[in-house]
Amino acid sequence: MAPVFLTEEPPTYGVVQSVSPMVRRIVAKNPSKFTYHGTGTYIIGDPNGNELAVIDPGPDDDAHLTALLDAIGNKNVSHILVTHTHPDHSPSATSLSEITSAPTYGFGKHPLAATKKPDDLDETQPDDLEGRGDTNFVPDVEIGNGDVIVGEGFTFEALHTPGHISNHLCFSLEEESTLFTGDHVMGWSTTVIPAPDGNLSHYLSNLRRLLERSEMTYRPTHGPAIEDPLPFVNSLIEHREERTTQIIAAINKEPKTVKELVNDIYSDVDESLHKAAGSSVYAHLLDLARIGVVSAEPDFDMDAEWRVK
Ligand SMILES: [Zn+2]
Repeated sequence: MAPVFLTEEPPTYGVVQSVSPMVRRIVAKNPSKFTYHGTGTYIIGDPNGNELAVIDPGPDDDAHLTALLDAIGNKNVSHILVTHTHPDHSPSATSLSEITSAPTYGFGKHPLAATKKPDDLDETQPDDLEGRGDTNFVPDVEIGNGDVIVGEGFTFEALHTPGHISNHLCFSLEEESTLFTGDHVMGWSTTVIPAPDGNLSHYLSNLRRLLERSEMTYRPTHGPAIEDPLPFVNSLIEHREERTTQIIAAINKEPKTVKELVNDIYSDVDESLHKAAGSSVYAHLLDLARIGVVSAEPDFDMDAEWRVK
């Protein structure tokens, strides 16, 4: 079954919304074809308590930070959790930490393999901005899979979920059976897997892991919540498996470049998304090369001719 994507009305930027008894969300004004209406920063805490956690403070944007501080009010931020180091997720963590003295928690620095050389950058393209990453962010506390973070009235379990990027974490809020999925699972769109740091087999195994878990609600950093999430996760897995089959079929008879494959397979997709589709096709090909199904001439790169072995 093809994934059924969700939509939501554009938010009023700068206004905090209550999305559950313990969770509020405030959306940054950075809409794009990769961020939907913008980055959804979450504020979590017992409404009767004094402590709060913040997940993904978002882009370097003064208006967003001001709105976030207004929503925090006179409560104490005890934890700043960061799902990963893309520029729409982590940059405000550092400023928020300076202002509130709360420590930041994350898997680690931006991975080297996800950093593009400056002359490869086209600053006008959001996917390149995603690629650049937030190389300034260094978590105060490095956390990994299974680590538990306890605050006043809230308990998070960290899940290390590489795939979109190797330092990606999801956070499970025990009190509300809710998984904050960052960019690992989003209701509005598939996830971009920018190879080589983005890794399709890691992504798929970290989707399959979710099928063993019991959270009732997912809250991605972009777009609406996903209720009853497991059928949706299953459809995302099937969607990638179908893409793999399509790619193998397309290069079975004659070798093709990534660009030719995109033109074949994504002919119904708007051309402005072909670059992102190319990085996704490339991630599929690298994964198939890893298991010995395909080879590339002359090198394993975007411009190569790829063929089934
Ligand atoms: Zn991202």
